[in-house]
Amino acid sequence: MFDLIVKGGTLPDGRIADIGIRGDRIAAIEDLSGAEAGEVIEAAGDLVSPPFVDPHFHLDATLSYGLPRINASGTLLEGIGLWGELKQIVTHDEMVARALTYCDWAASMGLLAIRSHVDTCDDRLLGVEAMLEVRERVSPYIDLQLVAFPQDGFYRDPSARDNTLRALDMGVDVVGGIPHFERSMADGARSVRELCEIAAARGLMVDLHCDETDDPMSRHIETLAFEAQRLGLQGRVAGSHLTSMHSMDNYYVSKLLPLMAEAGIAAIPNPLINITLQGRHDTYPKRRGLTRVKEMQAHGITVGWGQDCVLDPWYSLGTGDMLDVAFMGLHVAQMTSPDEMARCFDMVTTQNARIMGLDDLGLAPGKSASLVVLDAGAPIEALRLRPARLAVVSKGNVISRMPREDATLSLPGRPGTLRRRHSAG
Ligand SMILES: [Zn+2]
Repeated sequence: MFDLIVKGGTLPDGRIADIGIRGDRIAAIEDLSGAEAGEVIEAAGDLVSPPFVDPHFHLDATLSYGLPRINASGTLLEGIGLWGELKQIVTHDEMVARALTYCDWAASMGLLAIRSHVDTCDDRLLGVEAMLEVRERVSPYIDLQLVAFPQDGFYRDPSARDNTLRALDMGVDVVGGIPHFERSMADGARSVRELCEIAAARGLMVDLHCDETDDPMSRHIETLAFEAQRLGLQGRVAGSHLTSMHSMDNYYVSKLLPLMAEAGIAAIPNPLINITLQGRHDTYPKRRGLTRVKEMQAHGITVGWGQDCVLDPWYSLGTGDMLDVAFMGLHVAQMTSPDEMARCFDMVTTQNARIMGLDDLGLAPGKSASLVVLDAGAPIEALRLRPARLAVVSKGNVISRMPREDATLSLPGRPGTLRRRHSAG
């Protein structure tokens, strides 16, 4: 007897199986015909996937687009300035309400784990308190991991160092930073070193906004990899963005990538944001500003796709759908072979979970009973359609359902209903 059976779905690897759930655990993945269950989800022909995971987001800023004004230049730096204005006027309750609304969107899209940076450059730590409350409130259905992020610079902002340490004392999970925003390359490198030492001393993970610039001489990723290795932090450190690598000298990169691989550093490019914010100082040709994804993967470096922003000072669109993120990444990184497209789907599910250290996620007996049923037949088709999430199960509970997106046609001599799927089902 199971509490829930998801029947006949297609798994990302192409197997067709029933998934039996007891409590908050996956109890069996096999042919369960004849088995009884309290509830059955018919998924014949539909893709059943592990949940989507976003390893890079800003939940304290989300859904604030237009407050107090829009980002006129479209640059990273105006966005940071604008966020500074908003921070002065925002209230705890507004921030919590917006974050909870976004988490509703995420839940409906099967996005069940999020790593969010939270700004620590505020003596009141208003955002930190708000996000700790949100982490607690969504914990029954979303795993929220918080990063202490000194947005205005760990050293550049006079009280950021103290406030970042206070945020970690309050229970923020991961050590963040922004070395390319410090006042000198030397200060940036020094910040990477101290932030890694803080993480090592406290047994925490590290995730820095690192080299989010078109400047090929922004090389803080080298220091990050060196410190990760020196302090024994292999597997616990991520570099977010790494956009400068797009413009780096090829010889230098040929030395950098093996160092990153040895140091066990993961990379989190954010394609929607990188393609939007980078290259703004270029005329033509205009750089894409996305890091070297396929090249890192060829060196065995774990790479995930992050979303970064939805309707905030840096990005005027966004949906909470990690398939949108993977779709953009696939295009900008030119990952168009069947293997590469399938890998893009894996990046927003399995690889992102690995980066966040979420060993409990995945479709296997004993793992958390969290999964998504999509109106698509296979991962590549899911990327093409970015379709309805027919059902979302989190920790054993069905938390969202959505109807299929069939059209009713009125065309002489053509079928009356249309489903844009082109593979199984
Ligand atoms: Zn970010």
